[in-house]
Amino acid sequence: MRLAIIGGGASAVTLVDALARSAPKEKISVSVFEPRAVPGPGRPYAEDADGALINRPADAMSIRHRDPLDFRNWLREAHRGGEFPSADPEARFQPRWLFGVYLRRRLASAAARLAADGGTVDVHATAVEDIVAADGRLLTRTATGGTQAHDHVVMCLGTPRPADIYGLAGRPGFVADPYPLSEPLPTGEPVTVLGSNLSAVDIAAALLRRGHTAPIRLMSRGGLLPSVRCRPAAIGPAEARQLAEAVRRTPPAALWTTVRRLLHDRLVAHGVSADEISLDLATGEPAVRRLARQLGRTEAADCWRGVLLPLLDPVGELLWQRLPLSTRKAFLHRNTRLATVLNPMPPATAALLLEALGSGALEVHSGVTAVTARPGGGFTVTADGKDHRAGVLLNATRATPYDLDEPAGRLLGRLAASGLARPHPCGGVYIDFATNRVLGPACGLYALGHPTAGDLYYANAGSLLGISARAERIVARIQRGPATGTAALATSSTLTIGGQLDG
Ligand SMILES: Cc1cc2nc3c(=O)[nH]c(=O)nc-3n(C[C@H](O)[C@H](O)[C@H](O)COP(=O)(O)OP(=O)(O)OC[C@H]3O[C@@H](n4cnc5c(N)ncnc54)[C@H](O)[C@@H]3O)c2cc1C
Repeated sequence: MRLAIIGGGASAVTLVDALARSAPKEKISVSVFEPRAVPGPGRPYAEDADGALINRPADAMSIRHRDPLDFRNWLREAHRGGEFPSADPEARFQPRWLFGVYLRRRLASAAARLAADGGTVDVHATAVEDIVAADGRLLTRTATGGTQAHDHVVMCLGTPRPADIYGLAGRPGFVADPYPLSEPLPTGEPVTVLGSNLSAVDIAAALLRRGHTAPIRLMSRGGLLPSVRCRPAAIGPAEARQLAEAVRRTPPAALWTTVRRLLHDRLVAHGVSADEISLDLATGEPAVRRLARQLGRTEAADCWRGVLLPLLDPVGELLWQRLPLSTRKAFLHRNTRLATVLNPMPPATAALLLEALGSGALEVHSGVTAVTARPGGGFTVTADGKDHRAGVLLNATRATPYDLDEPAGRLLGRLAASGLARPHPCGGVYIDFATNRVLGPACGLYALGHPTAGDLYYANAGSLLGISARAERIVARIQRGPATGTAALATSSTLTIGGQLDG
């Protein structure tokens, strides 16, 4: 059986790992297409010299959803063996680069396991530009002109890059996509970050940890930082069951109202404070006060944020998929404040920002209405009617649709034009909820991770444990399907597995 995986980030690793663990009965040839130099870490977990932390606790950052401690245990073992002496394997939030190493190692061991079963894993350092269905197979066409035939293709394309809202691409000083965070920036030069979401916070934290001495400004329309992650509250089996039942059985038209009422009842039962909810969802509270307030509540059993997330987590995927499209669209459009609660930052990151805000090393501004390039170089950012000059501008705005200039956007654009995939108005493409198969005429075409966000919601679609559960579904499904041979019509620049994957 021939399988193509388009994209070589965490989703791809999860899929290859699930395939290797499934003890396949037939020989499997896997082609991974990834234009980045190193397959595995993808966009978020590349080398960045200890700068930024993963936003989820290490105990939820496994590529194996049935073994959530896989990353933690891998790290403990490596540390005991003398690797990563500066790492603290027991820390709740781990550096991004360490997770990148874990991904590289897991990819290498999964590839070795498949090879031991007679299979192969080849990495092609190029983007896939198009997929065509022909004679029951799927042909991938790459940027380097290679074409290969496959029985199954899984698109693991990751998240869209930040939007260029103000048309600044190509201007000196404008960093269109700051990931990976390893690019050196002059430490003495003030930096303005467009955005105040998790990516913006990551950038600020990475700069501060690297000893950036000049002021860092986070500037966005709302000026709201992500909430600070709380210790999750213990959710009783009965309350979890009640919510799950409601999500499964309530007709879609009444689902949103029903779930909101149930969540409200559960929050009240856990003794949460209505004032805290209002404050968290309001704009206008100075960032320094908000961070200090939320940091003081991270261990509180009655903090609503610590109750909400574990309540929503097990039902989020199905809830989103069953909501009417109009409700999903309205939610994405209106609920940017709730999004700050659903995507929280680690307390250690919040503490770092709080200190920097106190010392003047960091500023947070709201009310951005315009950003323009200055004739003599640099930029003017207009916020709340005031102009701010910026020399270096890092773009951390969140994008929902893929840009047609990036490989993922180009590929999905071509698939939409040929009818192999249908763009989802809430992001990515329409998929079959049970199997992740891309809805359309090609039986062997699947999506995993962010390209499924329209049907799974972006936070669920990007959760690694969720990705792992979905990867297993894809593996189960493709192993049931017919496996035919392959016609390799031409090859692209293939990199061999051993040296490339393990670093
Ligand atoms: C900046 C950022 C930070 C994040 N932080 C966290 C976090 O702290 N914790 C957490 O749980 N989740 C986080 N996430 C969510 C993240 O989506 C998942 O954790 C996970 O990394 C997703 O892996 P992926 O393989 O789907 O995407 P990615 O890691 O983005 O990999 C996708 C890969 O596909 C490649 N690609 C795209 N198009 C093509 C093409 N046409 N041909 C070939 N290759 C292509 C890209 O080059 C890229 O390397 C973050 C996401 C982002 C974007």
